[in-house]
Amino acid sequence: MPTDPPPLTDHDTHVLRALTATTRFLTVVRLHEILLTQGHHMPLRSVYRCLNRLIRADLVDRMPTRAGTAVYRRRADRRDRHHLVCANCGHTAEIADDDIAAWVSDAARAHGFTDATTGVTLSGTCASCAATYRDDEA
Ligand SMILES: [Zn+2]
Repeated sequence: MPTDPPPLTDHDTHVLRALTATTRFLTVVRLHEILLTQGHHMPLRSVYRCLNRLIRADLVDRMPTRAGTAVYRRRADRRDRHHLVCANCGHTAEIADDDIAAWVSDAARAHGFTDATTGVTLSGTCASCAATYRDDEA
C-alpha cells in the first residue's frame, strides 16, 4: 500500500507557488533564480528536495530534456495529461485527446486493470524557437 506523501514544508510551498505562476516547464536553475528574486533564499539542493517531494505529492511534473537534465511544471490537475513540450525553451501546450484516454481505458480493461491513468508527453521545437533557428540560418 502506498504511503501518504510527507506534508509540504514552507520551501515546498514557495517552489509550488513559483511553478504555479507560469505555464512553462522550468529548469531547477531558473526556478532557483525566480525564488531568489522573490526573496526566498534557499540553496539549490533544497529546490531539488522540494521538487522531489512535490513530485511524490503528485503536484509537479518532471520532464527530461535532450540535454540530459530535466524541467519541472506545476501539475494542472489529476486528470490524464498530455503535453507538447519544446525541448529548447520549455514552452508547453496541453493536448486534449479523448482517443488516448479511451485507448488507456481499453488497454487497462483488457488486462484486468482499473483506474489506469497515463500522461503522454511529446517533445519537440516550438514555433517560436523554430523561427529563431530559421532566422539564425538566414
Ligand atoms: Zn521553444
